Amino acid sequence: MSNLIGQRAIVIGAGIGGLSAAGVLAPYFRQVLLLERDVLKPAAQARLGVPQGRHPHGLLAGGLKAVNEIFPGFEDALVRAGGVPVGVARDIRFEHPEIGRLPQRELGPRVVCASRPLLELVLRQKAEAIPNLEIRSGCKVTEIVSEPSSANVQGVRLVNQIGVSSFIDADLVVDASGRGAPTAALFEALKLQPPETTTIHINLCYTSAVIELPEQATKNWKLVLTLNDPPRIGDRGVLVPMEHNRWMVTICQRGRLERIDGWDSYVSAFGELITPTIHDALRQAKPIEDLRQFAFPTSSWRHFERSPRLPRGLLPIADAICRFNPIHGQGMSSAALQARLLRDALADAITESDPVAALQQGFMAEVASVLETPWAMSTSRDLMFPDTHGPRPEHFQANVEFELAMFRAAVIDPVVHKAAMDVNQLLQPRSLLRSPHIMERIEETNGVRTGWSHPEVMTGSSTFRLRTTVPRG
Ligand SMILES: Cc1cc2nc3c(=O)[nH]c(=O)nc-3n(C[C@H](O)[C@H](O)[C@H](O)COP(=O)(O)OP(=O)(O)OC[C@H]3O[C@@H](n4cnc5c(N)ncnc54)[C@H](O)[C@@H]3O)c2cc1C
Repeated sequence: MSNLIGQRAIVIGAGIGGLSAAGVLAPYFRQVLLLERDVLKPAAQARLGVPQGRHPHGLLAGGLKAVNEIFPGFEDALVRAGGVPVGVARDIRFEHPEIGRLPQRELGPRVVCASRPLLELVLRQKAEAIPNLEIRSGCKVTEIVSEPSSANVQGVRLVNQIGVSSFIDADLVVDASGRGAPTAALFEALKLQPPETTTIHINLCYTSAVIELPEQATKNWKLVLTLNDPPRIGDRGVLVPMEHNRWMVTICQRGRLERIDGWDSYVSAFGELITPTIHDALRQAKPIEDLRQFAFPTSSWRHFERSPRLPRGLLPIADAICRFNPIHGQGMSSAALQARLLRDALADAITESDPVAALQQGFMAEVASVLETPWAMSTSRDLMFPDTHGPRPEHFQANVEFELAMFRAAVIDPVVHKAAMDVNQLLQPRSLLRSPHIMERIEETNGVRTGWSHPEVMTGSSTFRLRTTVPRG
């Protein structure tokens, strides 16, 4: 039996979401056409359409696993191209204001660090090897075209590099354009209510540099993550390896959008972090390129899954649905996990009488479960600052205290450490941390007696109160 559910699927945008989605669509359409407004070169180069690509871009272990499933051999190809393997717990120095740092242990998964342009190039090469997948670059989609009365998507209008406009029909249009402007314009044209949106105003500024470091400076770690200390210290730092024996470093500053002027002021800004680790390394560093900055005012989740209906044949994906505070490195991984969800929804839809509509419904029914863990993890630290505007989830304070207890337990208990790492790396859902065998160990090491395994806690409506629990013994 044929798996085909349509003649052509169009994907808007050849970023991580678009490439991953195109890979899973290929077995189900005669042609998958990926339209990218930038002119793509066969080299790992920064490009205009992805301005964030000049900043560190880590693919978490869960994202790497999903990409490997979609494009077998991706990880090996990235390593061959110069990506640097990093053991997640063994090689990462994770610095926390209250626990100090997590011990570096051998706990299993690895990630492969590389610049965003290299990561994207290797992914694109994998996509280009699929015979019925065509990447057409230098083509900007100007409109998703839909039948006004039925709201059935018919295709897209685009303009090419020399300004010629044309229409291409499609059974399915996937909007992986990052900002999701084509979807927003279609909703407006069809007079549909825009999706409910959760917005957290985080007002961040990233300043990054590519550097060289002497071997001596990095002998105890391959990657450093230095957290902030809400509400006292708002800034965080990250130092990651990349290809060609170089490193990328970034400082993420809260509420400060003024330009950092020059290398010396940049290095001193790291002196304000909770530990001197990155600052000390930078004092031995040689900057390779100019500093680059990126303002990130809000994290936002457009809840298409709550919309009463989507135009038939339209599917937004990745950043077009949800944009996370980038410091946790979740955006690309979440894009890959959504593409894997799309693959599952496609497999379920082929036997339905209207597979395209079934695919949309199947994807939207599950997408919140893919987004919930990274969203909760990335917003919780931001919401710990009293002046952060945005809805705080129920039992927010109890969850913050639970997280701290979990980190304390992770320092001495490798089982809790592994669970925390698997959740952080998007290999497991957040609910793992509330499972009885992990909760018991967290209780044990925090020296508290009862209550946390209560069903109320298990369902997430936590009554966790670290400071008021009864000490053991
Ligand atoms: C400073 C910063 C640092 C980050 N660091 C990390 C990190 O460490 N780890 C991580 O996982 N994520 C990180 N992210 C997030 C990550 O960049 C995004 O989540 C991820 O790229 C989303 O993929 P996407 O495919 O949705 O969008 P993008 O990768 O942004 O791709 C969108 C593509 O669509 C194209 N496009 C747009 N409009 C059109 C159109 N009309 N027609 C044709 N093409 C179009 C664009 O040119 C682009 O190629 C970071 C983000 C920022 C801002």
